[in-house]
This record gives sequence, structure tokens and C-alpha cells, in this order.
Amino acid sequence: MTDKQTDTERVENVIIVGGGPAGYTAALYAARAELEPLVIEGFQWGGQLQNTTDVENYPGYQEGVMGPEMMNEFRAQAERFGTRFVTDDVTEIALNDGGIQTVKVGKDTYQAKAVILSMGAEPKRLGIPGEIELGGRGVSTCGVCDGAFFKGEDVVVIGGGDSAMEDSIFVSKFAKDLTIVHRRDEFRASKIMQERARRKENINFLTPYVPVEFIAGDDGKIAKVRVQHAETGEEKELDAGGAFVAIGHRPRSELVEGQVVLDENGYVVTEEPSTKTKLDGVFAVGDLVDHTYRQAVTAAGSGCKGALDAEWYLRDMPPDPEEHWGTNTGAIIEAVEAS
Ligand code: NAP
Repeated sequence: MTDKQTDTERVENVIIVGGGPAGYTAALYAARAELEPLVIEGFQWGGQLQNTTDVENYPGYQEGVMGPEMMNEFRAQAERFGTRFVTDDVTEIALNDGGIQTVKVGKDTYQAKAVILSMGAEPKRLGIPGEIELGGRGVSTCGVCDGAFFKGEDVVVIGGGDSAMEDSIFVSKFAKDLTIVHRRDEFRASKIMQERARRKENINFLTPYVPVEFIAGDDGKIAKVRVQHAETGEEKELDAGGAFVAIGHRPRSELVEGQVVLDENGYVVTEEPSTKTKLDGVFAVGDLVDHTYRQAVTAAGSGCKGALDAEWYLRDMPPDPEEHWGTNTGAIIEAVEAS
């Protein structure tokens, strides 16, 4: 028999979908509440931090820590208190308002009374040569995380939205010169963010240009960004000791689309300040919900809230009548009527 649910008929207290800072923190709290959580963490568990080098802004790591190492520690800490893991990708989620939640991994079916969605988000990619190869070697998708590594360097930021402006303003504190490359002359970013960026003396704007290649220097790190005029096709190379791709994020909400409320960008909408979705027993945390802060520490905090919300939900959930009263319900009803 291949179907695990048929094998065990087990209904978990809580299933956590996603193995990033939010999911593992939810697991830690749920495990310490003796809920024996099951984390379906994905084949490439660890989330965005799995692709990050030094993390210097997570409190408690005075000397910084490598992203994958930190995720290993998060995972091990959750495991220590009884968290179980399925290291594979979820293929289907069937949500239920106040009932049993079903999560499938290929042919295997898992069921739970509550589910915490923590599938995260992924930065959008340009899909140009050098982007993946030079990831961690000067090409980054997070200015707040990596900006401080580019002290005194020329930096290129790609994008025309608020993220590009915010990353540029932050990174300009460290960079020598910073060029924002955007594919149109008009910017999607709010006026106030654009103005803040324009007021920085070392920030320049280059429009309408599209990046076509990230080029490595002899040391294997990024050295130049080749860009092309969006209309004339003219090309030029910009010096770059660092480059940031800030063209937005895509929440990984595709498996719950049509089941919970999503905003216009695909983020799951919760009943803030809680992590409740519109469905009882379904909670959403981390970058799947948050398009503003998107930090490991905010995701972890959100995961903690999700576990507490799930714990409270399970505590208050009306007990299964059969489980609670046994099969002798007739005698109980008679006893109640007689009293
Ligand atoms: P966004 O608003 O979707 O902007 C993405 C930018 O990247 C756009 O300018 C877009 O160009 C460009 N872009 C997309 N794909 C591209 C490609 N393949 N090649 C080149 N350029 C490409 O995303 P965001 O800036 O991450 O912002 C997302 C949301 O978070 C927004 O609601 C934003 O206001 C909010 N946010 C707020 C703050 C803040 O208030 N502090 C900070 C960050 C984000 P086009 O304009 O030509 O489409």
C-alpha cells in the first residue's frame, strides 16, 4: 500500500507547510505545546535563507551566521521537541472550514485538525546569464540583507518599484556610486520613495534600460552589468562590485488559490493581528502573508504567532462527540434528559 493515510488513518493536530524561518518557528512552538507537529518542509527545505551567505541581522548571532547553517539550527531545535518532517514538496492542499485539513505529497495523504501555511515567497528573477551563477558572489535579491557587504563599491540596482527604491536608499549608505536601472522612464514606485532616492547624491538613474548579463571578473565575483537601451538596442557595460535584483516577489500561494483570500499580488490575507485566514483551523504566516518586511526575524515572529493561534484553536475546538462521549451516546442523552 502506498497511500500513507490509508496505512495509518492518523489525523495530526497540526501540519505546517513550508520549511523556512516561519515554518520552523511555528514547529518549535507547536512542538513545545506538545502538539507533535508535522512539517512538510519541501525538497529544498530552508527557504530563501538556503540561498543566502552571511546573515548579520538576525539577533543572537553576534558574529553572523551562514543562511543554510541558521536554517539547520532552526530545524534541529524544532526536532528536539518532537517535530516530524516530510522532506518533499506538497502537491495539493484541500482546506476545510473548521474541519479536517488535507495535504498531499504525491500519492501520500496527510490530514490534520489545523494547518499553518508558511510556503513563503520567492524573489522574481530576470532570467539573464550570470544571475544564478553569481548569486552569493555579488548578485543579490535583498538589499537590507547584503547591502553592507558592498562598502565603497559601485552598485547596480535593477527595478522601478518601492523595493528598488528602498534597497537603493539602504545600499547607498555603503556604496560609492549606485545606479538604478529601470526598463521604463516612468516608475512604479511611490513618489515619496522616488524623491528620497533622488535626494541621495550617490544614486543615479538609468532609463529605459534592461539588464542583459551579469559579468564576472577574474576573481569570479561580479564586475560588470551589461545593459541594453529598451528602444534603440544600444548596449553598455556598467562597473559593479555588487548588483541587486529588486523586481518584486512572488508569494508561493498557488496551492491555496481559490480556497483562502489572496490580495491582488497573491499574498494570503489574514485577520491581522492574528494569523487566521477566513477558514477556521487554517493559519498563514511569514512571507506568504507579508510583502512589506520580509525578514527572517519577522517571518520567525509570524511563525510563533501562527503556532499560538493554532494551539488556541485546537484547545477551543469543540471535541469530537464520539471521541468525547464514547459510543454510548444514548445513555448520556438519557442521563442529561433525566437531570
Ligand atoms: P513592484 O511594485 O511590482 O515593482 C517591480 C518593479 O520591477 C517594476 O518597476 C517593474 O517594472 C520591474 N520589473 C518587473 N519585472 C521586471 C523584469 N523582468 N525586468 C526588469 N524590470 C522588471 O514590486 P516591489 O517594488 O517589490 O513592491 C511590491 C509591493 O510592496 C508594492 O505594493 C510596494 O509598494 C510594497 N513595498 C513597499 C515598501 C515601502 O513602502 N517601504 C517597500 C517595498 C515594497 P514595470 O514598472 O515596468 O512593470
